[in-house]
Amino acid sequence: MGSVAGGSVAGRFCIGGICVGVFLWRACKNILPTKENLRRRGFIDEDRCILCCSEKETVHHILWACPSAQDVWGASSCKLQKCARSYSDFKDFFEELSVQLSGKDLNLLALTLRGIWRRRNLVVHGGDFTHPSIIADTAWEGLLQFTQANEKELNQADEGRGGTGMKWQAPPSGFYKVNWDIAISTGRKCMGIGVIIRDAAGRVLAAQSKSFMAVYDPATGEALAALHAEGLCRDLGFYDIIFEGDSLSMVKAIGERDPNWLRYGHIVEDIKTVLRTLRQWKICHAKREANIAAHGLAKEATMFIMDNIWIEEIPICISNIVHLECNDLSL
Ligand SMILES: [Zn+2]
Repeated sequence: MGSVAGGSVAGRFCIGGICVGVFLWRACKNILPTKENLRRRGFIDEDRCILCCSEKETVHHILWACPSAQDVWGASSCKLQKCARSYSDFKDFFEELSVQLSGKDLNLLALTLRGIWRRRNLVVHGGDFTHPSIIADTAWEGLLQFTQANEKELNQADEGRGGTGMKWQAPPSGFYKVNWDIAISTGRKCMGIGVIIRDAAGRVLAAQSKSFMAVYDPATGEALAALHAEGLCRDLGFYDIIFEGDSLSMVKAIGERDPNWLRYGHIVEDIKTVLRTLRQWKICHAKREANIAAHGLAKEATMFIMDNIWIEEIPICISNIVHLECNDLSL
């Protein structure tokens, strides 16, 4: 099935508004940020699986061979245990199953794989280890509810359409767009940052909101937010990026070749160092109206003083904005 390597798998799995396809495509292309891939790119020194600590963390290992993944498959309604054991490469494994399984089972497989990967990411970012049966049950519920969820999201987008002048533009195909922003609460004496990564179809691949118990000047805050934005891209394995912020001075500072000697210059230089590790990148200035999803995440961080990362799901606090902006793309 050449389509997996060719990328068409990415468009085949959009279940209940969850873009499973991009995840599967990246898994098949071996560009997920597994420890093995990060070690090959020189970001880390060792590549043992974070969950079992015994094997190298390849895509196939973390999603299938790892004992922690096998616990999920054992609890799953997917009847795959026999047919897929002989593979050691994820792409071969997935291509074979794509041929063998019906549409419903294939969707369940996709949702379960995504659940396993998401659990791994949560552990990497300091979250709790999710019980295998919860991942299996969540995938099953996702399958049952996806039609309903899809309809609901479409309705929400229609209700939200009010001509509010949002002008977020999707990146060209092959790029991911990363918007970042800050919000400052002088009352709570804190600052929040928001980051959102979307693809050419406007789908959310990752988002972050993070709070700081200090009030920085806006320029330093913007620099910190931009640094977190590119850190999130690097951690998650996005290497073809358009960065977009609404602070013109920060966009200019990051885009300049010469060293920055202003008070936040050391952060700008850190940003430039990380940018050099990406494959392709651009940085652009956006109007505030085109950056409200990132701003919503930053504001959320100041209101609840908590840090959150969403992987391939839409944060509830900005779901209407994201649906609207996604919908506007096709107008
Ligand atoms: Zn393992």
